[in-house]
Amino acid sequence: MEVRRTAPVKLIVPDERRNDLHESARQFLHCANRAAEFCWSNASYTECITANTTARDALYDELREETDLTANLVQEAIRRAVQAVKGCVERWEDGKRVSQPEFTSWSILYDKRSATFYRDRVSLSTVNGRVECAFELPSDSPTPYERYVLSEEFEFRASTLQYDKATDEFYFHITTRKHDSDDDESEVSEDTEYQTVLGIDLGVNSLAVASTGRFWQGDDYDHWCREFEKRRGDLQQRGTQAAHNALLRLGKREEACRKQYLHTVANEIVTEAVENGCDVIVFEDLTDIRERLPQAKWHHLWAFRRLFEYVEYKAAKRGVAAKQVAPNHTSQRCSRTDCGFTHEANRDGEHFECQKCGYEVNADYNAAKNIGLRYARKRKHRLRSSPK
Ligand SMILES: [Zn+2]
Repeated sequence: MEVRRTAPVKLIVPDERRNDLHESARQFLHCANRAAEFCWSNASYTECITANTTARDALYDELREETDLTANLVQEAIRRAVQAVKGCVERWEDGKRVSQPEFTSWSILYDKRSATFYRDRVSLSTVNGRVECAFELPSDSPTPYERYVLSEEFEFRASTLQYDKATDEFYFHITTRKHDSDDDESEVSEDTEYQTVLGIDLGVNSLAVASTGRFWQGDDYDHWCREFEKRRGDLQQRGTQAAHNALLRLGKREEACRKQYLHTVANEIVTEAVENGCDVIVFEDLTDIRERLPQAKWHHLWAFRRLFEYVEYKAAKRGVAAKQVAPNHTSQRCSRTDCGFTHEANRDGEHFECQKCGYEVNADYNAAKNIGLRYARKRKHRLRSSPK
């Protein structure tokens, strides 16, 4: 068990091959949804199919027939559905309300056989043969996450291709893990027992940061809060009955606006977990957050609690658990697994620099990784000490 690390890298896709990727994604979703339907039973969780081989034996030939996808992509789609169903069954066993997993977002899971990784490009299999795409790296390279993604220390694992509709761009979410891991499995996607953790750090600089390197800045959120604040001030000064009524309406609108925003972030966090194959999303314990983040504004504290509630609720529906772990210096600890040096001098505002190994990274992102790691370690310990 480990915290998987992912970095989104923009791909340069040849114009004439873009449609091949879109069609591949459509067919990949079709396979995943067909497999989820096959594996799911509303009657009882004991009737749900959670073994990858059972699903594959039953569906593989049919899905190869129905699509132009390669063998490995069909298998990955089935595997994704089985994983999701399995997660739901676990929640169901715990008495939680669940429903058949449904796949709607544009994403294709590639393993080492359907994608060939190079340091500067990737070759992807599609419904129409292979397409080679170069990585487009930002000019301020290396970004914090590129440092480990493109470092030789890490090897590529099953990774996800995603499409950003707003910008019409393709991103390859490259997942890596270390060579010298003590885990004995040989291929991530082959092991259905594989479990990973998505760590989330809530902060002042960014609203939330995931251990995959994804940030939710919360700028919009802060902007609205300031706007509402200003208008509230104006209305309060007037002191008329009409102003009082307007004030009430404003309060309701503000709350709706803020909830709406947090719902969006919560959805994106849960999707981030699902698409990275994580079965648990871990937050810092929120109980004493006011003491730990004295500089946080009240609307942030309010947002953190709501965000956790929303994530917990939405994650459950997709077979993912949401947990909190005690913070324990997550912001001061070096998140490099071979280091772990903890010192308050490591952190300086948004910047983290390990005083021992020199690891430099965004401070919130470092904390998010620690939150994930902390939970993963705790769970590993618990599984080892529990009687078989
Ligand atoms: Zn270090």
